[in-house]
Amino acid sequence: MRTQVVIIGSGPSGLLLGQLLGKAGIDTVILDRVSNAHILSRVRAGVLEEGTVGLLDKAGVGARMHREGLLHEGFSLAFDGRDHRIDLFDLTGGKRVMVYGQTELTLDLIEQRERDGRVTIYDAGNVALAGFDGPNPYVTYEKDGVTYRIDCDFIAGCDGFHGASRKAVPEGAIKTFERVYPFGWLGILAEVPPVNHELIYANHPRGFALCSMRSPTRSRYYVQCSLDDTVDMWSDDRFWDELRRRLPAHHAEALTTGPSFEKSIAPLRSFVAEPMRFGRLFLVGDAAHIVPPTGAKGLNLAASDVHYLFEGLLQHYQERSNAGIDHYSDTALRRVWKAVRFSWSMTTLLHRFPDTGDFGQKIQEAELDYLTQSRSASTAMAENYIGLPY
Ligand SMILES: Cc1cc2nc3c(=O)[nH]c(=O)nc-3n(C[C@H](O)[C@H](O)[C@H](O)COP(=O)(O)OP(=O)(O)OC[C@H]3O[C@@H](n4cnc5c(N)ncnc54)[C@H](O)[C@@H]3O)c2cc1C
Repeated sequence: MRTQVVIIGSGPSGLLLGQLLGKAGIDTVILDRVSNAHILSRVRAGVLEEGTVGLLDKAGVGARMHREGLLHEGFSLAFDGRDHRIDLFDLTGGKRVMVYGQTELTLDLIEQRERDGRVTIYDAGNVALAGFDGPNPYVTYEKDGVTYRIDCDFIAGCDGFHGASRKAVPEGAIKTFERVYPFGWLGILAEVPPVNHELIYANHPRGFALCSMRSPTRSRYYVQCSLDDTVDMWSDDRFWDELRRRLPAHHAEALTTGPSFEKSIAPLRSFVAEPMRFGRLFLVGDAAHIVPPTGAKGLNLAASDVHYLFEGLLQHYQERSNAGIDHYSDTALRRVWKAVRFSWSMTTLLHRFPDTGDFGQKIQEAELDYLTQSRSASTAMAENYIGLPY
């Protein structure tokens, strides 16, 4: 088989890139090692920047998001028994974020790809990349005991942190930067109305908590937990009790609880691989970088990478210019590092670290207090939260 661009990974970055390229008349094949049903069962991100929303519109898959997504003009920072609203709309000259689950966005992209009749190969085993340091890259995979080969012009490695693409790069050609945080997030989904119409990010001596949502009737809540914890150690009752303790009293009293239907623990990590291009292979999204979810940036960074790579490939095919793909890595990394810094700073400000202690708690509360009183400090946070321009 031959195609123009092989995309490895049918997550948000692979699907969005495939959709944009497809609309521009550029042929793609997407390979994923798991099934379509497995991909749609993964509960992950939920806050979309305006740039991401714009890209989904450009890809022609924004209709349901605009109907069912929730536009948010602010969020709350809770600390020291009170909370303060960061007015994103006012502080950024009228910008908002969209709350729309990654699962829904992925479903919209998968369905559109099916309608357009474009090729996705699920359950592709042993995906391997070759020849990308020369003019003839190709990808091999196994399915039902048979090995297949796809020749192409370019490979887009959109296969997440544990994928095959980054691992295919010779060790000496890549430099990685990493910080692993000494705690995780225990997250639940429950069919209960959200405690607040906007997100609440809570700093508390017992640890961080986040009140988020997927719809007016479905809540997504998180509490910071130990990396040694397992999901079985957290009954629903224990979770709700811990969440209440970490919220200011008026929110704790207003919290509606109910049985959870999803519960998982995610470790927190900052990770960047440089560069993001190796000959005819491009790394995109989580394959190249991971951020802790505190700043709601992971999915949005995947989208901004897609934007830069799409524009570069378009220039290559339509204008016979390689300027865009030659600059892809540098341009994408400049934005990536700013989001890595913001996610790290939100994580540092809001979480209880092993060495935080009473002194560290007071410093965090003083910084939060400063943020609530200083318009310029609130503006800096708001600008980063709604997403830096492409
Ligand atoms: C548990 C969890 C919670 C998260 N919560 C948030 C959040 O609240 N907010 C936020 O902004 N971000 C969050 N993120 C991050 C966000 O989900 C990611 O940034 C986003 O999914 C990145 O998209 P991607 O397409 O680059 O990678 P992925 O979504 O990881 O998709 C990669 C795809 O590649 C496939 N693949 C992997 N290896 C191979 C292989 N060898 N061969 C073929 N295919 C392969 C995978 O099956 C997958 O479908 C979370 C991530 C996780 C893991």
